Amino acid sequence: MTEDSARHREERSEEATQGPPHGPGLLRSARNDATSTSVAELAAVGLLDASRAETLRAVEARYSVAVTPEIAALIDRADPADPIARQFLPDLRELETRPEELADPIGDDAFSPTEGLVHRYPDRVLLKLLSVCPVYCRFCFRRETVGLGKGASLSETALDEAFAYIAERPQIFEVILTGGDPLALSARRLRAVAERLAAIPHVAVLRLHTRAPTAAPRLVTADRLEALTASGKALYMVLHVNHARELSAPARQAVARIQRAGISTLAQTVLLAGVNDDAATLEQLMRALLAAQIKPYYLHHPDLAPGTGHFRLSLERGRELHAELSRRISGVGLPSYVLDIPGGFGKVPLQPSHLERDEDGGWRVRDRAGRWRAYPAKDRDD
Ligand code: SF4
Repeated sequence: MTEDSARHREERSEEATQGPPHGPGLLRSARNDATSTSVAELAAVGLLDASRAETLRAVEARYSVAVTPEIAALIDRADPADPIARQFLPDLRELETRPEELADPIGDDAFSPTEGLVHRYPDRVLLKLLSVCPVYCRFCFRRETVGLGKGASLSETALDEAFAYIAERPQIFEVILTGGDPLALSARRLRAVAERLAAIPHVAVLRLHTRAPTAAPRLVTADRLEALTASGKALYMVLHVNHARELSAPARQAVARIQRAGISTLAQTVLLAGVNDDAATLEQLMRALLAAQIKPYYLHHPDLAPGTGHFRLSLERGRELHAELSRRISGVGLPSYVLDIPGGFGKVPLQPSHLERDEDGGWRVRDRAGRWRAYPAKDRDD
C-alpha cells in the first residue's frame, strides 16, 4: 500500500470513529471493506446457507454482526460444528433470553462515575473508548452496548471528564483501555488518549484489551503501536483468543509487531461450549499462546449475557476442565479460571475458597469483600 493510500484509509477510519451519525458503511470502513456486516453478506460469501439467512434476520436486528475476511478464512465451511464459525456466525438461539441473563451482566453501570469509565477496584479503572469492534462475538458480555448504531466513540467532553476523574485520584495506578476494541481507533485518537494519560504521574500502567490481532491483524499498524508507546508508561496488551486456530500466520505476525514495540502480551480466553470446552483444545490453545510469547492470563467463565445460554457450560464442568488443564501444562501456561460475579461484585478465581454449593444444588460465590453472592445460573450441561 502506498503512503497516500495508507493515509486515505486512515482518514476514513478516523471519520468512522469520530462521532455520530455512523451508518454501517462508515463503521465497516473502520475495519475492512471486505468485512461482512449482515446475514445477507455472510450468505453472499458462502458462510451462511442462503435459506438460513432469512430466518437469521431477526438475530442481526437484535445483535450486530461483523466477520472480517481474516476470520472468514479460518472457518471450515465443511464443518457444521466449526469452533470459529460458532463464535462469529449468528445463531437463532441468540433470541432465547433466559431468566438469569442480564443486559449488564458484570454490573459496569453501577461503577461508572463518568461516561465510559468503570471504577470497580480501587487501583484501576476501565476506560471504554468506543463501542465498535472489528468482529462481533456472539457471546459478547457487552453485546447490549457494543455494536453498530450503539454510539461509536466517546465524545471529547466525556473523555475530558474521564481524564479529570483519573487525575484527581492518586490511587489509580492502572488504566485499562477497552470498548469495543481500542485498536479500531485511529493512531491519532490513540495518541491523544495516550498523551492525556502520560500527563497523569500516578498512572503507571496502561493495559489495552483487544480482539484485533487475531480478528483484524491489519489494525495492528506501526503508527497505532507508536501512538500507544509514546505514553512512556508500562504497556500491556491483553489479546482475546479462544482457539488455537485464531493464531493464524497474519495474527502471529501482528503479535510479533506488538512485541517488537516493547509491549507485553497476555491472553484472555472465554470458556465456551462447542468452541474450547475440552481439555485437549484448551491445552493446544495455551501451548500456541506460549509459543507466540503470549502469557495466558484469564480463562473466563462465560457471563450471563442475553441470548448466550447455548455457550455456557456449568461451573462444575469448567472446574473439571481447568483442573485437567493444570495437569497437562506448566504453571506459566495455566490461566486463572475466573468468574465475574453477576451484579458487579467483581472478578474472583473459581477455587474452593470462593465457591460453595447452596441448598438447591446451585452455587454461591464469595466476593473480594468476603460476602457470599448467589450465582443465579443453574448447572445445565445438557
Ligand atoms: S471483541 Fe470483545 S467487546 Fe467486541 S464483540 Fe467480541 S467480546 Fe465483545
